[in-house]
Amino acid sequence: MLIVISAPSGTGKTTICKGLLFSIPTLKFSVSYTTRKPRSGEVEKGEYKFITRDKFQKMIENDMFIEWVQLFGDYYGTAKKTLEDAKNGNYDLLLDIDVVGGRKIKELFPDALLIFLTPPSIEELKKRLILRKTENKEALDKRLAKAKEENKQAKYYDYIVVNDKQEKAIEEIKNIILKKKGVLDIRNVV
Ligand code: ADP
Ligand code: 5GP
Repeated sequence: MLIVISAPSGTGKTTICKGLLFSIPTLKFSVSYTTRKPRSGEVEKGEYKFITRDKFQKMIENDMFIEWVQLFGDYYGTAKKTLEDAKNGNYDLLLDIDVVGGRKIKELFPDALLIFLTPPSIEELKKRLILRKTENKEALDKRLAKAKEENKQAKYYDYIVVNDKQEKAIEEIKNIILKKKGVLDIRNVV
């Protein structure tokens, strides 16, 4: 099963994904490739495979991505191999990707579950981005401008979840996933 979570940058996707991975043992995270510079601590946490633009370009030429996008001046992509490994390993995959990538996945795999996470408001989103202290003013403005565009794409998603209280949002998404999987026995999850 493929589960896509998209949200404007700063909404809390990374935080929510961690909560989901912790509570659903059959779920693994799809580690994307990116040319973006790592934020502090990211390399160790394995959130991305950080590569050069040259390497990314080579991977595009060798048709190694199922989908890729250019965002905020950098490249991000999901490798075909990540999906193949999930199929062979018989586990579900959680993809934290943008709305363009999400729609592409749905086009290729109509059975994929698409969840759009939205912040309670643009003001709250700005507050979260500022508090995260990972973006300079220019990068922050780019992300806020894109958030308004991304919110318009929510209508293509199967579910829209508001990330107001973190625990509540995790619980809500967990239930959506389990419903789709047809898991009735709650003892299968933590
Ligand atoms: P994203 O992956 O969507 O860019 P992050 O998971 O990095 O966002 O979260 C952005 C910031 O907002 C982080 O500092 C995180 O701790 C905080 N955050 C996440 N969820 C919530 C929430 N429900 N309420 C308040 N702050 C949150
Ligand atoms: P960030 O730089 O904040 O980690 O991510 C920026 C945006 O890129 C987020 O919306 C995230 O979901 C998206 N993203 C991360 N990896 C991929 C990917 O492999 N494909 C696509 N399409 N988007 C991605």
